[in-house]
Amino acid sequence: MLGAVALASLVYFTSTVWRRLAPMVTAPDRNLSFDRPAKRLWTVFAEVLLQTRVIRERPVAGVLHALVMWGFFAFAWVSAEHLALGFSGFDTSIHAPSWYTAFAAVWAAAVLAGIIGLSFRRFVLRPRALGPRTSLTSAAVALLIVILMATYLADWRFLEPPSGAWKANWWAHTAALLGMLWLIPNSKHLHLVLAPVAIFFRGRVTSSMRPLRDEDDDDFGMIKFGDLSQKDVLDVHSCVECGRCTDNCPANLIGGSLDPKRIVLQLQHGLLAGGEIIAGDDAAVACGEAWLTEQEVFECLSCGACEEACPVGIEHVGLKILDLRRGLVSEGRTSGEKLADMFTTMERSPHNAWGVSQQIRRKLIEADGLPVYEAEAEWLLWLGCGCNYDPHGQNVVRAMKQILDAAGIAWGVLASETCCGEPARRAGNEYLYQELSERVISSLRSKGVKKIVTCDPHCARMFDLDYRQQSDFAALGVEIVHHTELLSRLVGSLPLQASGKKVTLHDPCYLARGRGVTEEPRAVLRALGTELVEMEHHGSKTFCCGAGGAQLYIADDKVELPGGRVNYKRFEEVSASGADTVAVACPYCPIMLRDAAGQAGRDEVQIVDIAELVAAGIARTSAGAATG
Ligand code: SF4
Ligand code: SF4
Repeated sequence: MLGAVALASLVYFTSTVWRRLAPMVTAPDRNLSFDRPAKRLWTVFAEVLLQTRVIRERPVAGVLHALVMWGFFAFAWVSAEHLALGFSGFDTSIHAPSWYTAFAAVWAAAVLAGIIGLSFRRFVLRPRALGPRTSLTSAAVALLIVILMATYLADWRFLEPPSGAWKANWWAHTAALLGMLWLIPNSKHLHLVLAPVAIFFRGRVTSSMRPLRDEDDDDFGMIKFGDLSQKDVLDVHSCVECGRCTDNCPANLIGGSLDPKRIVLQLQHGLLAGGEIIAGDDAAVACGEAWLTEQEVFECLSCGACEEACPVGIEHVGLKILDLRRGLVSEGRTSGEKLADMFTTMERSPHNAWGVSQQIRRKLIEADGLPVYEAEAEWLLWLGCGCNYDPHGQNVVRAMKQILDAAGIAWGVLASETCCGEPARRAGNEYLYQELSERVISSLRSKGVKKIVTCDPHCARMFDLDYRQQSDFAALGVEIVHHTELLSRLVGSLPLQASGKKVTLHDPCYLARGRGVTEEPRAVLRALGTELVEMEHHGSKTFCCGAGGAQLYIADDKVELPGGRVNYKRFEEVSASGADTVAVACPYCPIMLRDAAGQAGRDEVQIVDIAELVAAGIARTSAGAATG
């Protein structure tokens, strides 16, 4: 009897898991990467066994979750012994040593405390992130866990084999144990099996877009469920429905329709239901022809906060949202006029999303005497559109000139520089991105560039990740750094006079999460003698300024959602920090933050790039030397 039930449970469990994961076999992208295996295994150890990310994101719920998980590990021997007893016809000579049974009893109490606490949160407190629906499977799994622990404690303390009560208790424990095999594969609890795998295969940084399957192939992004990659299939079945992604999504926090948890779950539901088209207009979604709306797909800022928060390694952005944009744009479905306008502007000469003439940057080069890159120069200072055309961005270039000259570095700028294609790729226009990137690659090749420093983390990210997906760029072997990385190497040798400013650092998403650089800008600020105060969201947990994912160009600035605007929310944190200066490290953030400062009536707050602060430190030293 026990053998038959156990076998049926195992067969059901395996076949259900297989049914869910079967699309991985036919997935067009086998994008499960095994590079840096030691690092990946360490991440699994830290995030699964030590529960670091779960606890960091929600300390109380995280510790309760950890108690349950660690308890299950502690119970491995108990469960093995329990089943061995059944298969041996209740041979009571089989038993674990008393120290272990006592150890397991302590963990049984810890698991009970954990599961009761989590159930109280889920079913009584009902936080917004968990959604309005009461999950019956969660309730059933919680009940089974309580039965498992209670029956173990009863067996350990009160019952003697082979009494009838002991046998009844044994069967209750067995039923709960095997019941798990029926519930887990059909619920979010499948994460118990899949989360370690999804975490192992998570990309190195957030929002990474998958390379084209074949550079000459007709690969136009994600359109149908059959386009989901292996990692996507794994991801959508690993979701634990915790809502951490949504809790951290700036677009959702201001009341937008984008909900990253919903994106993952709709992909899961559509896949299980045999859906065909993933995203469409509202009418297509209403009649069940599509599962996601174009609007939600195009609201994303590609800030990566969702991926950073996700405890099971799900990649919402590059692999799903941005790939869906790629699919929609390839079919001519460009949500909103501004998006279509941006593409048209970028397609035309001078090929930038601002539609600004190259004449502007030529004037900058001439008026400020910027050296034009020659083969003997060490570094190419890549300006990027923000520093080429925005007046504040141009001030950052002037600051960099002062710093690089003071450091005695041989450097130069390109006489002619076109957009790297970042807004086009993030907005889904792969064709346009390919065209623009080929133009840039050919220009870099012809100049023999080997080292690039840029003040724009979007450009740094494009060169270092997206461009490297193209074989002709990878062959150039170019080193890329963001200017804060170079400045952190240089500050020790620069003549800097300290500043007494109270500064807060706004970490750009594409630098902190998209490149993993958070310490270098702080090192520069410390070297400047500033008083650094942190905002609530900082470092890898930074909060977007509202410009990413091409939103600077495509967001409808006439519409204000119930929660205001993303940049307004960020500026609230600036105000709360009490800083008189916001240090930035991206040309787009100050545009958004200045707008928010104006709206808040706080124009006196200085918003300056870190390079400008360093240049001011050099200028103070020079002024001091002149007067001294
Ligand atoms: S990338 Fe940012 S805006 Fe987009 S879904 Fe994730 S958290 Fe939301
Ligand atoms: S995608 Fe990740 S963060 Fe979002 S609900 Fe699922 S498990 Fe939680």
